[in-house]
Formats: sequence, C-alpha cells, structure tokens
Amino acid sequence: MMTERIAELLLNGQPDAKTQIQGWVRTKRELKDFTFLEINDGSALANLQVVVNTDLADYAEIIKGVNTGSSVEVRGVLAASPAKGQRIELKAEEIQVYGQADLETYPLQKKRHSFEFLREIGHLRGRTNSLGAVFRVRNACSYAIHRFFQERGFMWVHTPIITSSDCEGAGEMFHITTFDLKNVPVTEQNQIDFSQDFFGKPAYLTVSGQLEAEVMAMAFSNVYTFGPTFRAENSNTSRHLAEFWMVEPEMAFCDLAGDMDLAEEFLKYIFKYALETCAADFEFFNQRIDNSVLATAENIINNQFERVTYTEAIKLLQKSGKTFTYPVEWGLDLQSEHERYLAEELFKKPAIVTDYPVEIKAFYMRLNDDGKTVAAMDMLAPKIGEIIGGSQREERLDVLETRIKNQGLDVSDYWWYLDLRRYGTVPHAGFGLGFERLVQFMTGMANIRDVIPFPRAPKSIDF
Ligand code: ATP
Ligand code: MG
Ligand code: MG
Ligand code: MG
Repeated sequence: MMTERIAELLLNGQPDAKTQIQGWVRTKRELKDFTFLEINDGSALANLQVVVNTDLADYAEIIKGVNTGSSVEVRGVLAASPAKGQRIELKAEEIQVYGQADLETYPLQKKRHSFEFLREIGHLRGRTNSLGAVFRVRNACSYAIHRFFQERGFMWVHTPIITSSDCEGAGEMFHITTFDLKNVPVTEQNQIDFSQDFFGKPAYLTVSGQLEAEVMAMAFSNVYTFGPTFRAENSNTSRHLAEFWMVEPEMAFCDLAGDMDLAEEFLKYIFKYALETCAADFEFFNQRIDNSVLATAENIINNQFERVTYTEAIKLLQKSGKTFTYPVEWGLDLQSEHERYLAEELFKKPAIVTDYPVEIKAFYMRLNDDGKTVAAMDMLAPKIGEIIGGSQREERLDVLETRIKNQGLDVSDYWWYLDLRRYGTVPHAGFGLGFERLVQFMTGMANIRDVIPFPRAPKSIDF
C-alpha cells in the first residue's frame, strides 16, 4: 500500500478509505478501551489522530513501544472523527514501530519550550509545532521565489561561493584556506600570509552573488540567484547570521524605478503564495507568535508600499520627536532603530528609501546627477528594518573606475567587471533580499536563528 501524507488525508481523506501513514508520535493517551495516538509526519501543523483498539493483536506490547517521539507506520481505515476540530481519524489495524524513543530522555514534551532551549536541540526542533510551521513556510517561499522569476522569464544562475572579490567592501569576508596547518605561509613580518591561501591566491566565501549576476545579466538580460552567502559578522543581533540565503535578481535595461516595482511585486507575490498554501501555519503564528502576522500579510498584499528619498527620510526622523540611540544626520547610514521607526511607526507598512549619500554605499551603485547621492534603494519592513538592498548599477566606465579608486580598491582586480562596461554596456539594476529576514518578517519570529534549520552565528555552531 502507498504511504499517504497526513496533510492530504486531513484535507481530502474519506471515511472508510483504507490508508497507510508513517510519522512520529506526538502524544499518546491511554484509555480503558483504546489508546489515542497523535501522529505527525511534517506535512501539516495538525496531527492525525490514530485510534488503537484494545482488540488489536499484541495491543499491550505495541502501546508500550509507541511513546512520544517514536516512529511508526500505521495501516487502517479512515473514519469521520467525533472529536471537535478534526474531520477525520484513522482506526489502526496494524502498527509497526520503527524506532522507540526513551521517554526519560526525549527532550520534547507536550508543553511550550522556549526558543532558546529548542536551539540547544536544533536536531530535534523541527518536530515542534512552531519550528515545523516555520520550515514549511520557508519551503513555500523558496518555491514561490523560483515560480515568480521563472514565470517572468528570469534565468536562475548559479554564482560562485568561493570568490576573490569583496563585493560590498565591508570587510566582512571569511577567508578560505588550503594551508597545510603544519606549513602555514608567513610574511616577512612573521604573520600568516593570507594572499597565498587559495592555491596561491587570496579567496573568500561570497558575501553576495551580485557582481557575478551582473555578468550573467549582460548575456541573458534577466537573471536571479538564490543561494547561501556568508558574512563574518561578529555581532549578536536577532537579524544577522554568518551564513544566510540571498535572493538577487539582476535586470539589464532596467532603472531604479523598475527595480523598485519588481521588489514590491515580488514581496506581494511571495506573501500571497505562502498565505494561500500555508494557511494553518499562518493562523498558528498569529495566535502563538505575533498577533499581527495575518494583518501584516494582508497589508503587504493589498497596499502600495511607501517610497521616500533618504533626504526626506532624514527630515522625517529629525521631526519625529523620538530619542534615538544613534544620531540622525544627513550623510550617516540609517540604523535599525531608524528603519523600524519609519516602517513600523510612521508609515505602518514597508517603505522604500532611495538615493542614499554616495559615501555610505558600495562602489557599484549609480551616481546621481547631483554627484552626492546614488541610485540606491533599501526596503524597510516593520519590526525588521532592512530586508532588501538594491540599486541601479553604474554602467559608465569612467565613473565606475573613479568610484573604485575613490573607495581605495584596486581597479585591476575588477578588470572583468569593467569589461562589461567596455563592451555593450546597458543601464541595469537589481536587488538583494535576505531570505531569512523575509521569513522572519512573515512569521513574526523574533530571532533570525529560528527561521533557518542550521543557524550559523557566533556561539551557535554545534553541528
Ligand atoms: P544590515 O544593514 O542589516 O547589516 P546590509 O546593508 O549589510 O544589512 P546588504 O549588503 O544590503 O546588507 O545585503 C542585502 C540583504 O541581505 C539585506 O537587506 C538583508 O536583508 C540581508 N542581510 C545582510 N546581512 C545579513 C546577515 N548577516 N544575516 C541575514 N541577512 C542579512
Ligand atoms: Mg550589514
Ligand atoms: Mg544596511
Ligand atoms: Mg544594505
């Protein structure tokens, strides 16, 4: 018999149908004439209730072996459930226990565990309602991302993880090394010679696939990346990871306005898709994690985002009457508290801030005619702050060369990037969305470590 997924049975299973399921026992309740087992296979938030009658062969022995946490296969017949809140249940005719779980040591009990505690048992936390719901939504968003771009004719391109360029110029790169630890190359000053680390050349883990995505856009017009990126952020915020996933579309023949339009359409699409396919998970977040989750989703889907320039944003922050920890002054970057004030308190929806001062943005952003600002855009979300950073890219060879030099970078390192401006340059634009920040925003989860299966951050790398 084919094993069926519990999500499908809960939705469409018919009374009297024979079926077989496999999963893990969430709870066991022994009564006089039968035992109730709640089984979960990860496909849905809800469990399937299995009714085990005392007349089942080897009843006592089987029931002894199916504690919370054990893995089972159940064959039986579906029946309309008399219990409140569930349509269908499964009357067991045969139970096979795959692996028992020791109740004394199994760390998950039928109670709410703190997220801090669950992080300590990261290998088991997918079996809880909250992390189960998060990872299902994460999966739905991943699928929606590909669907969104593929429907619009974008090509998915695979940019390298090992690179030689620091795209953001923020010095947050992880060195990778092929050193033999017994024979580490040293400089004349007796320091480790990192310029030798990748078979004789310096190399790093990528902080962004953007520059390489630009390469591909200059041949395929519209492309996107969706993959892991790495930043050596030695900070312990609830929004930064050392390893996170980025979505980076790059469009040839596109300006900043087109870039913003795409970013807004994209966010609306992903929210809509996730809300439709993971309705029960959203209800759960709204009830148990953050009671504004459903309203936020509706707000995103139905309302136009706010758009302001950086200069206007600075004025609005100065007029706000709020006391911020960090100074608000033209020329300084917005901090998370400023970003959150704008999106959360002032506009009460996502806000796209454009035209940042040239000094605080990366070299590749297009210089505006004023010579002081660049065609950048950051999308700010309530409760999170920045979730997207994007820009129109500098397509003029001479301006780009000057920008690279002014930032103290070596023009010769970017020969291939500059070639794109030498041969058939076009206006182009793109953005980078932090995938975990999106999932955080969507689910209301407070800490970014709880929206990725295996968080990599200072002090959180157990396995
Ligand atoms: P922040 O100001 O929050 O540190 P950033 O400006 O350094 O972000 P960008 O270089 O613009 O980040 O990267 C694009 C997007 O990637 C950001 O808008 C954010 O959503 C996400 N992002 C950046 N750094 C991290 C990180 N350490 N962990 C998770 N997501 C990140
Ligand atoms: Mg940063
Ligand atoms: Mg930023
Ligand atoms: Mg940014």
